[in-house]
Amino acid sequence: MLKGKTALVTGSTSGIGLGIAKALAAQGANIVMNGFGDVDGPKAAIAALGVKVSYHGADMSRPDEIAAMMAFAAEQFGRVDILVNNAGIQHVARIENFPAERWDAIIAINMSSAFHATRLALPAMQAAGWGRIINVASVHGLVASAEKSAYVTAKHGVVGLTKVTALENASTGITCNAICPGWVLTPLVQKQVDAKAAALGVSNDEAKKLLLGEKEPSLQFTTPEELGALAVFFCSPAGNNVRGVAWNMDGGWLAQ
Ligand code: NAD
Repeated sequence: MLKGKTALVTGSTSGIGLGIAKALAAQGANIVMNGFGDVDGPKAAIAALGVKVSYHGADMSRPDEIAAMMAFAAEQFGRVDILVNNAGIQHVARIENFPAERWDAIIAINMSSAFHATRLALPAMQAAGWGRIINVASVHGLVASAEKSAYVTAKHGVVGLTKVTALENASTGITCNAICPGWVLTPLVQKQVDAKAAALGVSNDEAKKLLLGEKEPSLQFTTPEELGALAVFFCSPAGNNVRGVAWNMDGGWLAQ
């Protein structure tokens, strides 16, 4: 379905971004990867799906590096047809204890990076008359939890940016939508499981059950594969008139 298209997925060396990159590659899209940590393993896993894969190591907190990544993607593949703004980090602390430096980093990586990549991707999409922008927000783009001030602020911002991007391009072939996962067992969440296990003196498994039980009636983690399937739907012809939604996949978190 996506043969001949190019998808740039930020933060695709791990977790949800890697799941989405693989799902788009399985539909034939060439992939521009980004993110830190091990690159070779994830790159090989995507390439094994029979598509071309490039990697750019831009730090998504830096607008100049984001611009370099967008130029690199255009050089490699002509243009970016599908942009997935996914890179993100977390820090958990009450506001009065929240390090200002962590606030700035979360706002830059989880929110402002989506603006910079979007503003740089749009002109080529507009010239082509087709594009898909998918912002990986969170249930925390729609509701709050204590001790996540920067994250909740950034994710609400991403949902707002999603709606504006969708509206400004509503009469074109460019759509913009947000995916709002509940708990997904990636390194980002494993840190929170570890912190809970240490704080309560319980096992890792018990801490996972407690984390899920606080928020998700399904008592199940959503998987990167399930989120990848939703991203593929947004890119499909059936997603043509889905514009500006914030779609939660959250085990019933927001139904309560
Ligand atoms: P993860 O830690 O597995 O992956 C994060 C990715 O972002 C990695 O590839 C990492 O290298 C990259 N990254 C981090 N800082 C970066 C930077 N400065 N520049 C470039 N890349 C950077 O986490 P994940 O859970 O897969 O998170 C992906 C996205 O999903 C994030 O935006 C997160 O907020 C969102 N999300 C996660 C969950 C969850 O439960 N895991 C729930 C809702 C939303």
